[in-house]
Amino acid sequence: VIEIRDLHKSFGTLEVLKGVSLSAPSGHAISLIGSSGSGKSTLLRCCNLLEDSQSGEILFNGEPIRWRGEGMARRPADAKQVTRVRTNLSMVFQSFNLWSHMTILENVMEAPVTVLGRPRDEVEASARRYLDQVGIGDKADAWPAQLSGGQQQRAAIARALCMEPKALLFDEPTSALDPELEQEVVRVIKDLAAEGRTMIVVTHDMRMAADVADHVIFLHQGKIEEEGTPEALFGNPTSERLKGFLSHSV
Ligand code: ATP
Ligand code: MG
Repeated sequence: VIEIRDLHKSFGTLEVLKGVSLSAPSGHAISLIGSSGSGKSTLLRCCNLLEDSQSGEILFNGEPIRWRGEGMARRPADAKQVTRVRTNLSMVFQSFNLWSHMTILENVMEAPVTVLGRPRDEVEASARRYLDQVGIGDKADAWPAQLSGGQQQRAAIARALCMEPKALLFDEPTSALDPELEQEVVRVIKDLAAEGRTMIVVTHDMRMAADVADHVIFLHQGKIEEEGTPEALFGNPTSERLKGFLSHSV
C-alpha cells in the first residue's frame, strides 16, 4: 500500500531522514522503533504527505506521488492525489485529538460524512460497528471528557477505521496512557493486525512492536540501522546500536 524509496527530509539545515526506504504491502504490519529524535514521527508524516520531503519517491498503491519543484521547494503537484492519500491513510496520534464539542459517535462520523460525503445513516451504522469492535459501543453518546484515556484512544481508532482506509498509521498510540489502560489499546491494535490490516506502528513499547508487526524497523539518526522479523530484531540483534537501544528499553 505504501512504499518509500530513498527518502530525504530536512528541517532547514537539520537532515532528519537520510535516505529511508520501506515498503508496507497490503495485509502487513510494520513497527517503527528508535530513540527519541531518530525521525519516526517525521517518517510517518511523510507517508501521508503531512510533511514535505526533498528527494526520494513515495508510492501509494503503486502510484508514485507526483512532485513539482526541487529540493526544499519540492511539493506534491496534484491536490487530488494528496487528498486520496490522506483519506486512505488514517493516522492515530498519541494525544487522541478527539473533538471535545462532539459526542463519541459524532467524532467517528464526522470525516466520512464531511470529507467523503457518504450518507449519514450508512456512516452511523458503520461507526457503531467500529465502536463495538473496539469495545466502547455503549459510549456512543458520551462526550470525550467522560471517557478514560484508553477509551478515548479506542474512540480515535474507531474514527480512523470509519474512513475505511487502506492503511492505519499509529504514532505512539499508547504512550500517553497508564499501563493498565495501555493494555486495552494494545489489544485492539493486535486484533487489527490479526485481521490483516495494513499498518505502520511507531512505538516505544517493544512488546507491542513485537506482537503486532511482521516486520520491525529500527531507525537511528534518520537511517534504517537494522530491520527484519520481530524474532530476528529482538531475539538476535546484530547492530551494536540496536543492542544498546534494546538494553535501555523495557
Ligand atoms: P520521539 O520518539 O521523541 O517522538 P521521533 O523519532 O518521532 O522522536 P521526530 O519527531 O521525527 O522524532 O523528529 C526528528 C528530528 O526532527 C528531531 O531532531 C526533531 O527535533 C526534528 N523536528 C521534528 N519536527 C520538526 C519541525 N517541525 N521543525 C524542525 N525540526 C523538527
Ligand atoms: Mg515521535
